[in-house]
Amino acid sequence: MSNSKQQAQELINFIHGSPSTYHAVNNIRKELNEAGFQELDLREEWEVAKGGKYFTTKNGSAIFAFQIGTGEIEEEGFQMICAHSDAPGFKIKPNPEIEVEGNYIKLNTEVYGGPILNTWMDRPLSIAGRVSVKSNDPLHPEHLYVKIDRPLMVIPNLAIHLNRAVNDGVALNKQKDMLPLLSMITEEMEKDNCLVKLIANELKIDAEAIIDFDVNLFEVEKGCIFGLNDEFISSPRLDDLAMAHAGLKALLSVGNSKKTQMLAIFDNEEVGSVTKQGAGSPVLRHILQRIVFKLGKDMEALHRAIYSSFMISADMAHAVHPNIGEKHDPTNRPFINKGPVIKIHANQKYTTDGDSGTVFETLCKNADVPYQKFVNRSDLVGGSTLGNVSTGQVDIRTVDIGNPMFGMHSVRETGGVEDNAFVRKVFTYFFGL
Ligand SMILES: [Zn+2]
Repeated sequence: MSNSKQQAQELINFIHGSPSTYHAVNNIRKELNEAGFQELDLREEWEVAKGGKYFTTKNGSAIFAFQIGTGEIEEEGFQMICAHSDAPGFKIKPNPEIEVEGNYIKLNTEVYGGPILNTWMDRPLSIAGRVSVKSNDPLHPEHLYVKIDRPLMVIPNLAIHLNRAVNDGVALNKQKDMLPLLSMITEEMEKDNCLVKLIANELKIDAEAIIDFDVNLFEVEKGCIFGLNDEFISSPRLDDLAMAHAGLKALLSVGNSKKTQMLAIFDNEEVGSVTKQGAGSPVLRHILQRIVFKLGKDMEALHRAIYSSFMISADMAHAVHPNIGEKHDPTNRPFINKGPVIKIHANQKYTTDGDSGTVFETLCKNADVPYQKFVNRSDLVGGSTLGNVSTGQVDIRTVDIGNPMFGMHSVRETGGVEDNAFVRKVFTYFFGL
């Protein structure tokens, strides 16, 4: 297997094991632990030293890993890559069971972010997330992770015979049309509270112990490599676990340098980032401050460190679509497997400017990685990302980049095998500076 195919398979495996933000962060935590990174608790006093490797998590769904440089932090600054752990989809509502005509049980859900709804239909789905259970401390419940590794439900389509206009486009109602079918009702089943009982059974705990849950649907089937020459990746959640994974692999593959390397994986990008574990919160600024102060430096040194830093805000980008190429800018046309994409927006939804764009182009050139540029068609409104939200909290020079893909926010997205290898290479070069 080629090196880039092997790296693509690593990504697919990581995403398959990470069906919720909590699982993604926990899998990153495991890899960091194995690599000798020491976990710091946000609530406890930190001890950090030059050359040390550390990480901390927020809410179990955001993670910040850093390797402290051997130089003076106010002169060398932070080399940062940020990405996000969350993906659009469906969260299970409280009291989710709905009986249908005495025969079916379906679950009540709420849409999270902006998924392409129709891609979620007719696919075997299951549930994953965090379960909060009673503990002796009323302010700190115990948290358990649940991931049920078998097909549990489907959101069924309506037959074409019952809607002959289906191929002309169907407006799907989030409350009515998108509820997954979980079960038939049988005489022996205890249908009340059956989801909590299922989770309790999976976790081998009493159902009464479960007080609350943050659980989402996920597609059960694993991603794969496809194409005549095995050049594409088909997987859920490439946006943005592909960037989180590439950042992690880069961080794990570099040794100590004078500069401090940091990987910041935020939650809640898909709903605007303004949560305590999102890029719109002060969490990153506070972490940078603690690092600098715990190295025995002052506020002046913190400010100098911030202004000596550079951030790559890494979130996936749109490749020119093979069937609908007219949706893209006429002169900037990113293609799959032609390298990471620098995202540019005159009105600064992307942070890239001539300065930070030049830095990323130079990084790519030096790392021998091709790169491309993305600008929206001027008559289309694009998405937003982490970079400009994060700079509202910490004003670091930042570039927005991401790998090109199709079907962003589909339950199953398409990216490139070579692009994954390219972005790992340029991230590794960046962290190794
Ligand atoms: Zn994204």
